[in-house]
Amino acid sequence: MRTVPYFISDKRVEGAGDLLVYNPATGEVTAHVPIADKALVDGVVAVAREAAVGWRESSLSQRTNVLFSLRQLLVERGDELAALITQEHGKTIADAKGELARGLENVEYACGLMEHLKGDFSSQVASGVDVHSVREPVGVVAAITPFNFPIMVPLWMVANALASGNAVILKPSERDPSVSVRLGELLREAGLPTGVFSVLHGNADTVTHLLEHPGIDAISFVGSTPVARHVYQTGTLAGKRVQALGGAKNHMVVLPDADLEIAADAAINAGFGSAGERCMAISVVVAVGEVADPLIAKITDRLDKLHVGPGDDVTSDFGPVITKEHRDRIVHYVTSAPADGIAVVRDGTSWATKPGFFVGPCLLDGVKPGMKAYDDEIFGPVLGVARVDSYADAVAMVNANPYGNGVAIFTRDGNAARLFSREVSVGMIGVNVPIPVPVASYSFGGWKSSLFGHSHIYGPEGFAFYTRAKVITTRWPQPSDSQIDLGFPRTR
Ligand code: NAD
Repeated sequence: MRTVPYFISDKRVEGAGDLLVYNPATGEVTAHVPIADKALVDGVVAVAREAAVGWRESSLSQRTNVLFSLRQLLVERGDELAALITQEHGKTIADAKGELARGLENVEYACGLMEHLKGDFSSQVASGVDVHSVREPVGVVAAITPFNFPIMVPLWMVANALASGNAVILKPSERDPSVSVRLGELLREAGLPTGVFSVLHGNADTVTHLLEHPGIDAISFVGSTPVARHVYQTGTLAGKRVQALGGAKNHMVVLPDADLEIAADAAINAGFGSAGERCMAISVVVAVGEVADPLIAKITDRLDKLHVGPGDDVTSDFGPVITKEHRDRIVHYVTSAPADGIAVVRDGTSWATKPGFFVGPCLLDGVKPGMKAYDDEIFGPVLGVARVDSYADAVAMVNANPYGNGVAIFTRDGNAARLFSREVSVGMIGVNVPIPVPVASYSFGGWKSSLFGHSHIYGPEGFAFYTRAKVITTRWPQPSDSQIDLGFPRTR
């Protein structure tokens, strides 16, 4: 059985395999993953600290060249990387390529680092006094990532952290860790110096060693809300800057004037794509007024045409979920829904009896706050419909929810959309766009229990997070200050 290696310094390093990696489409174990203990974390942090000294002194053009080369390699190896993601995560090849494309955007943004790291300058703030600012790397960044986007989320962090002149230690999800090791190899091939990027595998204990290690300066975390909260609290207690992005429950509000064909297509794509295992997935359609019945009919028509199957089958619209335990948890939300008064319009739970970790598409009508199927992040191919009477009720429902990652509104009324954008307590809003993930030149982040810390991830806030500001105030004697002979004629 293969053991997924660490990537330390500049090469693969074997460890003893402790955790299991599955092919979710078959349910078979495909590899073991080691758990980095405290001694190994100490050793890798020492490597990163030493490498960070040289990397912070690298020229901006050297860093740009590495990132340009990385971009090229990621494009050239796209098929190989997508296949690796599909094998361990289960998503379709098209979804794997899609996440790579969104990750690539961040590498392209980071290629503009000369612009992003430019400081400010103010001349003559007082007589003979100028002020300028620079941004310097924080040092060593630990990047801790979830299973659901095994290449995109690492690239959200790694591209901008390296561009800013930091060394990075990536701790990917133990469930689909192999593509992170390939990322390490591609970074070396792109010319990144030894030790600037390493990959450590492990579990909660490994993360705790990183959070408490005095040699780590900043933590970027993406994962579930309970772990994000713990990471934020532990990391900041240890004196580090921390951005910790958590879970979500994203609503899609459909107003009576919306184009229901477009809204139904959006609900299908955003609710069931990647088997619903996206932090920006739509999990609740909020149908306002008389829209509910016709919208449910259109969603059901489309849902019946979805093809569930292995991710490497091009006819599959979505693949399996990540583990058997997660599959069983999702099934329980659906089988227990009727006891809460929810109507199960489509029940895909019979898929759970097949080999692999499949759940077919499920549609629940009548979800409400206080019901488990509404309150919890299910993170599977289960779409709930909530019926409300008015626009105001829809906004109240969105704002009362403890999560605030993404939200969408479907309408033809520009002013309703504008008002909605201003009234909701959510970080990312889509107007007739169901998954409003910002492009790489904006930053990504939710509100409330979807983000701990004040910094959103990637884009301008990414560069701000991975750097520290210095402001330098300079005074030189001026001709008017003294009788100094400058040795050349004064112009004024
Ligand atoms: P997770 O929280 O279980 O794991 C995330 C990372 O934390 C992994 O590397 C894991 O090894 C580590 N970890 C797990 N338990 C830990 C603990 N007790 N202490 C310290 N570290 C621990 O998340 P997941 O199941 O891999 O990913 C799915 C979750 O991530 C969902 O909740 C989803 O919404 C969220 N997510 C959020 C975003 C976002 O941008 N807000 C993006 C992607 C995923």
